[in-house]
Amino acid sequence: MFNAINRKIKRWIIRQQKRQPIVLISDTTLRDGVQTPGVQVSLQGKRRIAEALARAGVHSIELGFPAASARETADVQVLAGEIRGPILTALSRTLPGDVERASEALAPCPILKRAITLFIGTSLIHRRDKLNLSEAQVIRAAVRSVEQASQSFQIISVGAEDASRTDPCFLHEFYREVIAAGATSIGFADTVGILTPAQTARSVRGILDQVPNIDDALLGVHFHNDLGLATANSLAAVVAGANIVQCTINGIGERAGNAALEEVVVALSLHAGEYGRTSAIDLSALTGLSRLVAQATGLSVPVNKPVVGRNLFRTEAGVHQDGLLKNPETYLPFPPELVGAEGVELVLGPRSGRSAVRQHLVAKGLPAENEDVERYLQTLKKGVETNDPAEFEELDDIPDGCGGARCDDAASAR
Ligand code: MN
Repeated sequence: MFNAINRKIKRWIIRQQKRQPIVLISDTTLRDGVQTPGVQVSLQGKRRIAEALARAGVHSIELGFPAASARETADVQVLAGEIRGPILTALSRTLPGDVERASEALAPCPILKRAITLFIGTSLIHRRDKLNLSEAQVIRAAVRSVEQASQSFQIISVGAEDASRTDPCFLHEFYREVIAAGATSIGFADTVGILTPAQTARSVRGILDQVPNIDDALLGVHFHNDLGLATANSLAAVVAGANIVQCTINGIGERAGNAALEEVVVALSLHAGEYGRTSAIDLSALTGLSRLVAQATGLSVPVNKPVVGRNLFRTEAGVHQDGLLKNPETYLPFPPELVGAEGVELVLGPRSGRSAVRQHLVAKGLPAENEDVERYLQTLKKGVETNDPAEFEELDDIPDGCGGARCDDAASAR
């Protein structure tokens, strides 16, 4: 009786969630992200990342994979007792011992805020060569795990690992059975990052059309970036009707990494009209989150990393500098403050032009008459042409040498 009522309430909540014009963002920086070879994040580092993700407004945080090690279990347990706001989840294979470990690890979290993310390989390659399980056995293992997990969790996600290489008929049957058993969300994982956006859209539409009880569960997607398509695939999945997108900060994760949270949410926000839905993420938190994750993991952010790379708002090229000073929109897709970056930075170098040199001199309170500008400009250009270090000595006259002049005026003009 209680179970039947409980089920009805859950279905109602899920249907309400599906009607919201929101894409739910699930972050797996602390699970798939820290799976990057050689990465070790301290408990304090994990805590700071999880707190920052919670403040930024993610829907859920995957805290780790408790069965992986005793330390992982202990860390998840501490964070489950401290982090409040998002749903907190942990990864688990469809093994009784894993489910137990996840239940223990998440016990400090309130029941309506804790979740388990069960996963099992569904593709032929995974079933035959890794698991040695038939299709029926895979379904049975998943259904049993959902039943076991129901004792400790109200929110149960079941992910099909390597879903993108799984026979669609079997995949749909798998989802139907786990939803019938009580899964509140299902996961579609492009585990090896092989899909294109068009294939992604077909796969997602296939699930929505062919899984008869899909209204009773949210559909989550998880993309890897092996072909550089993780963000594009995530967006294609949103257009096709996925409810949850799983991401990592800076796109860190196995091999080429996961879909980068900052890329997905900024694209959703800038093209809200196209997607019809946006995320609840505070975009101004993105730069800080990126730096925090880089610092805690030791994985530096490439300077040209979309959205959060150091060069996104810096330029040395004279034509770009001149345009940016006149109107930052000339050479920027969005203003730096949107993502919490400091501002436009005009770097002085041999490719710089008069506008940037003048702006730099004015910012430093130095004479900026035409002749002053010309003198510095020629020094910059000459220095590099001759490639003689002695020529660079004159550059010392310019404060910060070739360092950047921050163009706060240009930034705030937007
Ligand atoms: Mn993954």
